[in-house]
Amino acid sequence: MQIIDIAKRILKTGYVCDNCLGRQFAQLLSGCTNKERGKAVRLILAMQAEQDDEKIHPANFRELTFRNKTIKTEKATCCVCEGLFENLPQISKKILKEIHDLEYDTFHIGVRLSDSLLKNEESLWETSGIETTESIKKELTREIGKLIQKKTKKEVDLKTPDIVILLNLDKNAIELTINSLYLYGRYKKHIKIPQTKHYCPDCHGNGCDKCNWRGLTYDTSVQQLIAEPILEATEGVDTKFHGQGREDIDVLCLGWRPFVIEVIEPAKRQLELEKLKTTINKTCAKKIEIDSLRYSGKKELQELKSIHPDKTYLLTLKPKKPVTEKDLEKLDALVGTITQQTPIRVKHRRADIKRKRKIYSVKYTKTKDNILKVELKTQAGLYIKELATGDDGRTEPSISAILDTEIEVLDLTVTEVHCR
Ligand SMILES: [Zn+2]
Ligand SMILES: [Zn+2]
Repeated sequence: MQIIDIAKRILKTGYVCDNCLGRQFAQLLSGCTNKERGKAVRLILAMQAEQDDEKIHPANFRELTFRNKTIKTEKATCCVCEGLFENLPQISKKILKEIHDLEYDTFHIGVRLSDSLLKNEESLWETSGIETTESIKKELTREIGKLIQKKTKKEVDLKTPDIVILLNLDKNAIELTINSLYLYGRYKKHIKIPQTKHYCPDCHGNGCDKCNWRGLTYDTSVQQLIAEPILEATEGVDTKFHGQGREDIDVLCLGWRPFVIEVIEPAKRQLELEKLKTTINKTCAKKIEIDSLRYSGKKELQELKSIHPDKTYLLTLKPKKPVTEKDLEKLDALVGTITQQTPIRVKHRRADIKRKRKIYSVKYTKTKDNILKVELKTQAGLYIKELATGDDGRTEPSISAILDTEIEVLDLTVTEVHCR
């Protein structure tokens, strides 16, 4: 069908705006807007109408002046978009007001159509066919995006935008999603605290008698110490802490361990990271320490979670029997592969399986009062305490089995996390 014939059919029954008319020919020509396409087609039809009689709804010529005849026009609302495209400046003003207090570099516009808009579009397509058309949703999204971009000078990002603005035409509302902000850093842990915030298992964070109405099992954690100043600076609502592996509560970490902290719904994103790092290190002195604080993203978080670095540990052990220097040398046999059944202490929350893990090196010394210091470089995922005690034969070989004595673990420290 000819463009003019299609246009005549579209404009026959009621007023259709330039955008909605032009959109039916969106796949013809590039470098022009649907509004321009619609205007061009309308002009041709108007000239034809002036020459012959065209059966077109007169409201469609409401902004034109005829030379040779008078066509009585009236004000009307587009029967396809219900006046949406003419209202775009007001809609974008509303959006700008909503996002005014937010800091962001990138955004993404979404549109949810109302049932009546969907119906209008369907019946329009029945009239015009869909050969050269595009959807109203696509045009709305693009045109609002252009307006917001022009006013804010921010970029549209379809994949990982800082904020998502949804124009919900079904509810006649603007719905904002503020995406998380990710920061990368490394920490050392100088005191025996958990890595992440533990909610009280009885009240799940709401507060109860058992947790003294704190909602938490422990007073503090690496996460809380780092998060507090970050939440203040970003005005976020919460954080998620992702460490590259973790150490137990009673294990110190004196080597730098990488982490990504995720700030939920931050209002501010432009941070003075150097200053923030200094603040954290000052307020948390002697508890934890951080460095390398910088902006990060979801991709790095995924990488962080998928890489399991080797570690070096320092064990302080108390054997039940006296151990000689000669006995100690037997510990060289630890270098190689260790077979470890899931430890008894974690069996309730981990699958009970046998795993093989490597030990790359071992160093040892002994004090006069029979205290052993053992340094081990190991593959990730080896349970170190059980390597010392043997865990009732579930870990083989073990320090306890090699020295043929019961072993008490006095202290365990991560001294290095071998990243790359
Ligand atoms: Zn329209
Ligand atoms: Zn509680």
